[in-house]
Amino acid sequence: MPGPYVVPVHGDEDLPRSVDVVVIGGGIIGASTALEIAEHGLTVALCEKGGIAREQSSRNWGWVRISRRDPREVPLMAQSLKLWAELNRRTGRQTGFKRAGILFTCATEQEFADHERWNRNLHGYDIESRMLSTAEFNAKFPGSTMKIAGALYTPDDCRAEPQLATPAIAEAARERGAHVLTECAVRGLQTAGGRVCGVVTERGEISCQAVVLAGGAWSSLFMGNNDLNLPQLRVMNSVLRTKPLEGGPEESIWARGFATRKRQDGGYTIADGTRNIVDIVPDSFRHMAAFLPALRHEWRSLRLRLGWRFIDDARMPRRWALDEPSPFEYVRTLDPVPSRAMADGALDRLKKEFPVFERAEIAQRWAGMIDVTPDAVPVIGAIDTIPGFYVATGFSGHGFGIGPAAGRLMADIVIGRSPIVDIAPFRFDRFRDGSKIELISGF
Ligand SMILES: Cc1cc2nc3c(=O)[nH]c(=O)nc-3n(C[C@H](O)[C@H](O)[C@H](O)COP(=O)(O)OP(=O)(O)OC[C@H]3O[C@@H](n4cnc5c(N)ncnc54)[C@H](O)[C@@H]3O)c2cc1C
Repeated sequence: MPGPYVVPVHGDEDLPRSVDVVVIGGGIIGASTALEIAEHGLTVALCEKGGIAREQSSRNWGWVRISRRDPREVPLMAQSLKLWAELNRRTGRQTGFKRAGILFTCATEQEFADHERWNRNLHGYDIESRMLSTAEFNAKFPGSTMKIAGALYTPDDCRAEPQLATPAIAEAARERGAHVLTECAVRGLQTAGGRVCGVVTERGEISCQAVVLAGGAWSSLFMGNNDLNLPQLRVMNSVLRTKPLEGGPEESIWARGFATRKRQDGGYTIADGTRNIVDIVPDSFRHMAAFLPALRHEWRSLRLRLGWRFIDDARMPRRWALDEPSPFEYVRTLDPVPSRAMADGALDRLKKEFPVFERAEIAQRWAGMIDVTPDAVPVIGAIDTIPGFYVATGFSGHGFGIGPAAGRLMADIVIGRSPIVDIAPFRFDRFRDGSKIELISGF
């Protein structure tokens, strides 16, 4: 199986003929939405073109953080931390969730000041987060040789196991009555009088009153077939995990050149958040104008690459009829080849700063495609032009941690409950009504 080992979720044999809500995409966002809707007592089908959590939701670093987030996401993330704390009990399974703390190191005094300023976003929240001086950092990590100006330390930040969490949520949704359908690509929406009335899947039709698209890196393609333009690009990050290692840090640590998180199996998930690959594909040109400010902001962390993916993507149909195979059936799992240089480079830099990692043995490498929006803030909301159609996508490198609350918010909107947070920052229409699109915290 490509990518990291994911706890298998066996799909149901039978396709339901009718449900209240169809959720497209078995990542953490779709699974969390399905769980919320099923808990509310509505019938729901969770349709996944491959296996549950085989794309981003199992390939991510496993950081569950509020620190350094875009301020527009902070209220939702504060809710998510509360939901994570209950998730093992609620699902009856292990998600690997642990409050272990996260540090963002500051290479310069300027970065220290920036992080200190960012931390004011947490005023009014009951979340422990503070600046550490260089001396405090050195005292906390006596084995480190890092020369830094200090760090932002958030003891209330957490970690969880991506290969466990989404399967646990999907199984819990099934126990509440959800249909979990794998190898079941949704080709498109059916409408009657302009309203959603069902979906066509590769295995047949399901009638419903509402459809939630939580398709991760495929959402823009799906929406395009419905004449909706979602500016979304894919950014590749390469990751490695080590075998169990004694004596390494309990906290997750971010620095220029590496990011590390302790795993439940005693190993570490290591990557470099400041080195990502963006393949130049036809979508790069389609969405160029929308992404220009973001690319200017992020250019240091992005390596543009022109290669075979341009041809692959150009060949991918952008329009299809619902009685023919859709692009989602051609690629069951997006499984990019990792950059060894980027993943191993992160470990090499980590070894220099934390010599305990000299003993680290690499167990596996993989890569994941992060779906980003121009402001790196997700879209969570109704699509006004197609009543009954909802979208939760574009989580831009931070959707794992916020996933449980994003599912709650999406369900609130679909069900018509009072939303847990203000929905305004997540509107789809911000990309087409002339709103100022600003990238604040990066991909
Ligand atoms: C390397 C890497 C590191 C990351 N690190 C972190 C981190 O530490 N912390 C954090 O919070 N976030 C992190 N992220 C981001 C996080 O993983 C994502 O934001 C999150 O998993 C997105 O969840 P999702 O459900 O939207 O998408 P996905 O997990 O990608 O799921 C979407 C699913 O939809 C399915 N699908 C698409 N179209 C269809 C269709 N038409 N029919 C049926 N199924 C369909 C796909 O097969 C896929 O399984 C990272 C991401 C990567 C790649």
